Amino acid sequence: MEHRIKLGISRCLLGEKVRYDGGHKLDPFLRDALGRFVRWVPVCPEVECGLPAPREPMRLTGDPDRPRLLTVKTARDLSGRMTAWGREVLNRLAAEDLCGYVFKSKSPSCGLSGVKVHPGPGGRALKKGVGLWAAMFGRRFPLVPVEEEVRLLDPGRRENFIERVLALRRWQESMEAGPAGVARFHAGHRLVIMAHGPRALPVLDRLAAEAEEDRDAAREYLVRLNQALKLKATVKKNVQALTRAAGQLEGLLSPEQRAELLAAVKAYAGSATPLSVPIGLLGRYARKYGHIRLSAQAYLSPDPLEAGLRDLSQAPGAA
Ligand code: SF4
Repeated sequence: MEHRIKLGISRCLLGEKVRYDGGHKLDPFLRDALGRFVRWVPVCPEVECGLPAPREPMRLTGDPDRPRLLTVKTARDLSGRMTAWGREVLNRLAAEDLCGYVFKSKSPSCGLSGVKVHPGPGGRALKKGVGLWAAMFGRRFPLVPVEEEVRLLDPGRRENFIERVLALRRWQESMEAGPAGVARFHAGHRLVIMAHGPRALPVLDRLAAEAEEDRDAAREYLVRLNQALKLKATVKKNVQALTRAAGQLEGLLSPEQRAELLAAVKAYAGSATPLSVPIGLLGRYARKYGHIRLSAQAYLSPDPLEAGLRDLSQAPGAA
């Protein structure tokens, strides 16, 4: 498996001139900042299904749940063309092991939500649609984290997206070992889960235990994990995870080290220091004292790729 994390992306967000007006929608944060850590797999459904750039603009039309993709002036229905192209491309993407996808918002092809759907002559457009390509992708890969570029401007959403991308990547690596990989994955993600959705832990404990014998349990585990990680990692939940981790080092730390660690957790709880400070201390002590279970926690991971992505996810705003 290639080490670099692969993410799909709407091609125009990387600055390629593929839009209907011959322009692009370059997002410097995605191309330059996030792009340092991931390998983009760019896709432009409109150009790649054979349409030129520039081209006549199109829009979603009809029933918001089953809209058609029509050109605005000539009302040419391009739904069949894009769907046929999409089926082929989804098969190709299945081999890419994508860990996420960033879609261009509002596009009738790429928008993930709130895309305008025109009911027909005289009617008012409803912002209830999903772009044709984005919908196909979601149906085929429901467990791959997806986001729109505008939502990634929000630090909380960015952190959440990156956390889910990292979790899927580690899941893919764990599953190279077969069904036994689920239990190992779960053991290494208890703190991450606590920081996002601690109430999911009992169910995930059970599913991880059953997964070695039962393929359905492994799939159900990934579904439940995804739901848990979608929950916001609040300061309160992070403090609980940090406190639980610190408790595992009881008896190993000197009084000074313990005081330093608790002070770092307290400073984070009071917004005086970033999360990376208590996490860094915990990871260092876990490794120093050979605490294998704690050292293996993804939450405390020293992996430079993950650390770089986490720093990005905690940056105050997009570049
Ligand atoms: S939004 Fe999607 S279809 Fe439109 S130009 Fe960008 S990549 Fe192509």
